[in-house]
Amino acid sequence: MTATVVTVSQLIGFAEPGPVVGRCYLCGQETNAGHPGAPSDSFTAWSSVYSGTVICEYCWPLVHDRRFRARSWLATPGQVRFVEPGEDRSWLRDVLLDPPAPPFALYLTRNGKKQGWIPLLRYVSHSRDRFWVGTDWTDRPVYCDRLWLAERVELLDRLADRGVPRTQMLFGRFAPRVWRSAIQDGWTSELEAVQRLAGDPQWEVLVYAAYRSRDRGTVRGVTRGDLPSDQLAEDAGEEPA
Ligand SMILES: [Zn+2]
Repeated sequence: MTATVVTVSQLIGFAEPGPVVGRCYLCGQETNAGHPGAPSDSFTAWSSVYSGTVICEYCWPLVHDRRFRARSWLATPGQVRFVEPGEDRSWLRDVLLDPPAPPFALYLTRNGKKQGWIPLLRYVSHSRDRFWVGTDWTDRPVYCDRLWLAERVELLDRLADRGVPRTQMLFGRFAPRVWRSAIQDGWTSELEAVQRLAGDPQWEVLVYAAYRSRDRGTVRGVTRGDLPSDQLAEDAGEEPA
């Protein structure tokens, strides 16, 4: 690993040196050990900010490991922890609310299709209080404030405990039965608070990573099926059982 960690790929530190001098398409760093050739179309869309000529030795192994695209993950120096298929994601919630010692990088994917981790490459987090979260539903990483998240997770948990589905929390659009319960039991102000939060990228990160279902007590990943459309905001349906 280089002395100064500038990119997430350097933080991870898996290096496969190549023969070419140039500037990396993906992270923008100059290198003496790059690999020639432009990335495929699926990468180009996400890396258009850099006029690169190579893929550097640190980005190269990431490009060739589909887990960086297909899964959510946490990178710390020399390590990556991926969310395994079907795994309880409670640890992602813990990372969000109680981040590891910096430097680190956190990536959340909704459906594992987009190369949304590419924009995160230049956003290594150096603070536990304010940090970046890469996602595949925002163009840029989301800047998160730990205190802000901690204050709102209580609202999230209270409504989850009452059985309000995650997608309704994301968009602040609630089913009639939820409104009926809220009116009957006097918590409409909490639904209105969520309506004010809907659309805030930090809220979306929080709901996505920290929603804990009442039934299972676990944090479940959104899979394809949960959010069939490409645009998060288009989906306001009920969560499947
Ligand atoms: Zn690179």
